[in-house]
Formats: sequence, C-alpha cells, structure tokens
Amino acid sequence: MKIFTSALVTETNTFSEHPTTLASFEELGIIRGPTPARALGDVGPIVEQWRLRARRYGDEVVEGVYAIAQPAGRVRAEAYAQLRGEILNAARAAMPLDMVLLFLHGAMVAEGEDDCEGDLIRAMRELVGPQCVIGVELDPHCHMTSTMTQHADVIILMREYPHTDYEARAAELFDACRAAASGVTRPVMAVADCRMVGFYPTTIEPMRGLVNWMSEIEARPGIVSVSLVHGFPWGDVADAGTKVLVVADGDPAFAMTQATELAQALYRIRHAMLPRLETVRQALEGFDAQGGMPRLLADAGDNPGGGAPGDHTVLLAELVQRKNLRSALGMLVDPQSVQACFESGIGARLQLSLGGKGGAVSGRPLEVEASVRGLALDHVQWVGDIRDPLGRAAWIRVNATDIVLTSRRQQTLSPTAFTGLGVPLHEAQVIAVKSSHHYYAEFSKLSTDRHVIETGAALSMDFAHLPYRNRHMHFFPATDNPSPHLA
Ligand SMILES: [Zn+2]
Repeated sequence: MKIFTSALVTETNTFSEHPTTLASFEELGIIRGPTPARALGDVGPIVEQWRLRARRYGDEVVEGVYAIAQPAGRVRAEAYAQLRGEILNAARAAMPLDMVLLFLHGAMVAEGEDDCEGDLIRAMRELVGPQCVIGVELDPHCHMTSTMTQHADVIILMREYPHTDYEARAAELFDACRAAASGVTRPVMAVADCRMVGFYPTTIEPMRGLVNWMSEIEARPGIVSVSLVHGFPWGDVADAGTKVLVVADGDPAFAMTQATELAQALYRIRHAMLPRLETVRQALEGFDAQGGMPRLLADAGDNPGGGAPGDHTVLLAELVQRKNLRSALGMLVDPQSVQACFESGIGARLQLSLGGKGGAVSGRPLEVEASVRGLALDHVQWVGDIRDPLGRAAWIRVNATDIVLTSRRQQTLSPTAFTGLGVPLHEAQVIAVKSSHHYYAEFSKLSTDRHVIETGAALSMDFAHLPYRNRHMHFFPATDNPSPHLA
C-alpha cells in the first residue's frame, strides 16, 4: 500500500492576545523530508510507530511536512494557508494513495477558520477521493466537530493525560486504517455530546477507572476504538466541550449506543470531576516536609502549554516570602531577566523585575534581589527520550527559592528543567511548576504529593464563568443538568 503521513499541531487559546505565526511554528520546527524520529519532538514517537508498521507490512510511506507550534492565540490566516497548502500539495504529488495518516491537535483555530482540522480533513478527502482511508490521531484536548467525523474514516485520541500513549494510539490508528484499506472492516464513527466543559487528569480516580473501562468497551466485538474528547476549555468555538467518540465496524447505531453508555457514566459523576483548586496558602498550611517527599504545586493557570504567558508571579511571590521553606520554581518565561543574568555573570547579585511582562494576563512583575547561580546558552529538558529545547536560561536564588528563568515559552515537563542548570532539586521541600498536569508524568518519580494552585492567571478553571461568545452556555458546570437524557 501507499501511505501519506503528515502533522500539523497547535492548540489555540482564543482568549490569548498573542497570535500564532509562521515564526511560532518555525521556533519548534517545520520539518520536511526524512528526519530521524528523535529530531521530531512530540511528533517523533508517532511517526516512528507509523514507519515501523509500514516496514513490517512492506508498505510505501511518503512523508509530508511535520509542523508544531507552542499554544498561543489564533493562528495567522497566512500561516495556516501556507502549512495547509504544503500538506495538500505533498499529498497530491504522492497520489494515488491507499491511506492518509495525520497527526493533528484538534483545537487549532485560525483567523477566519474555527475548525482548522475539519477544514484540512475535508480538503484532503476532496483531494484523495472516497476510496482512500483517512486516519487521524488527535489530542484529547480537541474540539470534535461533525466535519472531522464526516470526512475522516478513523479518528483516535490519546487516552492518557499526561499523554503518555502517543505511540500506542498511533499503532492502533495504523492497524485500524490498514484493516479498512484492505476491506477487512468498514469503520463508522459516532459522537455522544456530554454537554460538559472540564479538566480530566487520568492518573487519579474517578478518571482512572473510566479510562480502564474504555479499554473494556474497546474489547467488545464490533468496536474498533473508543476515545474520550476532553475538550479544550480555552478555545471559544461552537464545538468546544466533552464528548465520547466511538469507532465501530459497519454499525453506526451500535457505535452510538456504546458512545452514549460511556457519556452517561461520565455525566453521572460530573460533580466529582470538578477540579479541586487551592490557594498557595491552603496548599502549604501545616505542611512539614522534613524527611518526606517534596510537595508539588502546579500553577495550572499559567501553563504555557495551554497558551498562557508563563510569567505570572503570584505563586512565586508567595514562595519567596517563606524564607524558612526551601523551594524551587520553574520555569518563569523572562528573556529580559535572563539577559540581565548573563550580563552580570554567575555569582553576581542583582536587582530584577521578574515576570509580569506578557500583558494583562501576566499580572505584576515581582521586584527581587537575586543571586545568579547558573547559566545555560541552550538549556533543555528531557521528557523520556524527547529533547525539549528551552533556549537561554538562568538559575537564580531569591531567599530560599531557586528559580529557573527561560527565554523560550514552554511548560515545565521534567525535573531536568531544574537539574540541567545545577539546581539542587533534592533540597527543595516545595517544587512549583508552570503546567496543568503534563508535568506529572516525570515529576511523579520525585513525589506524588501534588496540588493544583489557583493564582488568577490566564487559564481559569472556573469553567462556569469563562467569557464564551461562540460556545453556547448550555453546559455543565454553567448549568447543573444540561443533558437530562444522560442523567
Ligand atoms: Zn492535550
């Protein structure tokens, strides 16, 4: 068989004032032509899996562009047009095709296009014709639209949050599409809308049990795949929200029954799924880390991975004033302060105005006297085998708090974001990160004592009061029982 693969990945925070440009994609990488998987960042494990399986089956693979950008505001129209055009042109040049495999985010919003993925899949369908099988792997923080399900044959989402199952889902997608292209199965998709907006880490109950149950449903005869659409609350588009997607073999009614069963299970525990947020004070009250594991504080509201600036200082201010508590905070995005640290050099003491530079959602800068402890020209964090470049970075200490400053906006995903600069993380009683939940895949090796902190930063988890204009407000928790048929 002849297979075309490509990726276009970014998650758009429509509330952000900072647009996603072509340069945003170039920063993380627009990769063309054969490239080793380890150089492909987040796309690597997926592409590697597709290459591996194609080799095993003796299939021919033509690879289009792979492009990823750090989440931010709406994608500039010309940036989307260029990348869309490039993907379609490469597919056109490779035709005729038996299969198209795309890795897309699912929450990409451009100027003038609220459903980039649906638009791209539809254009791909028009190009390759009805016989070619189109398979799409999406992030669960996506907006599932009818345009996507109408024009793709199989859509599979990562099931774990943190997303530790890129490869497993990529393998599943390849096999499901190949079975369809060989005429063994005839995949059909059904979506059940929960009418919910929420946040669903899968490492804790009740989500853990639900994810395990999804695997059980998937094992039933006639089911190809089961996905939970978590949704991305900070994308103000008509289709934002929590849904269940089921792919079945040939029977749309059966697919819908299974999707509704899972949607019902989720809907019935909706009150228990509301995020548990604390202030820094609440999270540290009575905390004694002597001899125990460090306490992890997640500044979910200022997570660059959800499009936040990453330089909000409320949590930092609370930590530096606790002079008897050894703490570490990373990563605060602040290229100007990094520059000042480089000019002063290691060992210097200097006045810094930390953070608070990304506009209204960044809050106020924090004035401190800091000592410079470490500098790196090309700092990186390692997430498993994936090398995540962070640019120029500095380690400073203010009172009893070690702080990692970076010049590139990225969420904190690994202890190496600290230790790579020399921060003695083992001394920290409290470790604070700019991340919602992805950090936990690596940081759980240090501690399981974690708290999500409410700081009033960009990504509010007060879902009932998000300032939606395009998404209607008939959802939980804005109303208590928006789907009586699921109750
Ligand atoms: Zn995600």
